[in-house]
Amino acid sequence: MPNSNVTKKSPSGDKKNPQGSPVQQNKSSNIARRFFFTLFLILLCVGLAFSLSPRNKLEEVPLSDVIARANEENGNIRKITVSGNELKITLKGKDQPTEVSRKDPSGTLYDQGLKNACADLTGDGLKECQGKYPVIEYETTSDIWGTIFDAAIIIVPTLILIGFFFYMMRQAQSMNKESMGFGKAKAKLYGPDKKKVTFKDVAGNEAAKQDLTEIVDFLKNPKRYEKLGAKIPRGVLLAGAPGTGKTLMARAVAGEANVPFFSISGSEFAEMFVGVGASRVRDLFKKAKSNAPSIIFIDEIDAVAHKRDARGGAGREDEQTLNQILVEMDGFDNDSGVIVMAATNRVDMLDKALLRPGRFDRHVNVTLPERKDRLEILKVHFKNKPVVSDLDLESLAAKTAGSSGADLANIANEAAIGAARENREKITNADLTEAFERVAIGPERKSKVMNDYERKVTAYHEAGHAIVGHVLPDSDPVHKVTIIPRGQTGGVTWFLPPEDRSYKSIYELKDILARAMGGRIAEKIIFGDDNVTTGASSDLKNVAELAKEMIVEEGMGSETRNLVFPSEETGYYTISTGKPYSEKTAELIDKEIKALSDEAAKRAELVLKANTDALDRLAAALLEKETLEEKDCEALLKGTTLPKAAALH
Ligand code: ADP
Ligand code: ZN
Ligand code: MG
Repeated sequence: MPNSNVTKKSPSGDKKNPQGSPVQQNKSSNIARRFFFTLFLILLCVGLAFSLSPRNKLEEVPLSDVIARANEENGNIRKITVSGNELKITLKGKDQPTEVSRKDPSGTLYDQGLKNACADLTGDGLKECQGKYPVIEYETTSDIWGTIFDAAIIIVPTLILIGFFFYMMRQAQSMNKESMGFGKAKAKLYGPDKKKVTFKDVAGNEAAKQDLTEIVDFLKNPKRYEKLGAKIPRGVLLAGAPGTGKTLMARAVAGEANVPFFSISGSEFAEMFVGVGASRVRDLFKKAKSNAPSIIFIDEIDAVAHKRDARGGAGREDEQTLNQILVEMDGFDNDSGVIVMAATNRVDMLDKALLRPGRFDRHVNVTLPERKDRLEILKVHFKNKPVVSDLDLESLAAKTAGSSGADLANIANEAAIGAARENREKITNADLTEAFERVAIGPERKSKVMNDYERKVTAYHEAGHAIVGHVLPDSDPVHKVTIIPRGQTGGVTWFLPPEDRSYKSIYELKDILARAMGGRIAEKIIFGDDNVTTGASSDLKNVAELAKEMIVEEGMGSETRNLVFPSEETGYYTISTGKPYSEKTAELIDKEIKALSDEAAKRAELVLKANTDALDRLAAALLEKETLEEKDCEALLKGTTLPKAAALH
């Protein structure tokens, strides 16, 4: 039952570029098509041959029947022609066989019960036997169709196997060629004719767009800059949280400048064989230069260019790739007309060599959207969707602080899916709310059964969060409380900031810790210390994480105030502890974290014990209505008091 400013946990929208490439796919599917076409032809020929064979006109009869009739005196069989295991039966008064049968290959016809027939080994036995019993004629060379049939049984599967083998060989070869770095395919080219993305498709982020407009201008009028002796930027690094639109922005630059765009993702390098990454880089730069002016875009560059000295250094392969990128960038002439863009969400992890002058020396920060930008992004994503006329995007923008562009695109898509699921023509405000909550926490699970006791525990738990958050002065107001299960949770209490803020004070963070504890403490007060449930596990995890962040990163401990500690990713390592600090410091940090969480529990308890009426009131209302909106909560929480000991200032 998370109690949090839900918009904080924005699901990562960092989608990787689809791997593989149109060209490569075409190639292999061509081979496949040719192979299957050939196979089809072979099968067609074999089938045709069988349908033309005279065998088809013969009637299949069981061996026992043939033997019975052959043993009969004056039976109707004149001749049995044996070729291999096949028997062709010619009836009396006929010239051609009309029936066919097969004998058991293990023995002769006589072994299998034929008694009185006479064999025509010399060619004249026929006369002697004529009349009474059939003549057995042995064909030394079986007929052509029988041979084909027998052979086909062996040959066709062999051919298929050989064909398949060759197909696999070709496939492997072509894959090898592709990954050897000479394939034209891997780097995706969005030429001027491909579907264009422009700055219009990128909402908000005016500052970043401003910076990039300059790049576009250079790509369009390189001469103007050269004449004035201006140094042209070579590398532009887009930095920002996942889903903020870095990839989109890079494509927009290409679209605006109308130049070819060669893009590759850092994670693709990671999949390559040894030595391939570097040659791929060489190839990429060569292609870009021959298509200049052009853009090379290396998405998620942190995958290849992380610090070489951090934690035992990057892998040798990554290092080669990174070195090749550096070599290529250094080798650029000023008038090469190629701009290298890269994107990362971890600037701090990048190798410093990449950031030196002449390399990625231009930094463009792509930030999480502010409220008005969120509105613009939502407008972009609802532009081509049918919506009701009073769709309230403003309030959605207001309550999505901390969401990235990708999150908002996701909400817009979920809203459309929701409307389609219910077969409606237009997207409504209810769809927006549902989509927002679904993206933030998970789908509603009405089907999840809770018994009465569980519902009661959940109601008190959520009421506990709500009251603590409402009473403490530095917490955001309660936006909504519900005991309808959603995603992994049994119930949710939402706090939403009335406006976007960039900084949080220590008071606010401590109130967040206390209200997160509110759920567990309410359970304890009502049901007893021994009856607390697992419903608070994610609350407690959030408390632990936030408290650690406050101590390690924000210098908010009481003994360690203004002191921060190196993180395990970026810090040096003390050999004796395997941590970036000493054992003693580790103990101190643990102590500080515990102090924060104890304090939070204490404050929650003080607040809830002083407001037990409100706790009962709110829990009862939740049990009755399941969901309480902001104004319902406000009305129910009137008269709650803040005990002096729980106040921080
Ligand atoms: P990043 O590369 O920073 O992780 P992307 O560029 O892949 O993010 O963005 C993912 C998706 O989110 C985009 O395809 C787009 O639909 C949406 N998006 C992100 N930022 C914006 C924005 N500023 N305006 C419009 N759509 C955006
Ligand atoms: Zn909870
Ligand atoms: Mg991206």
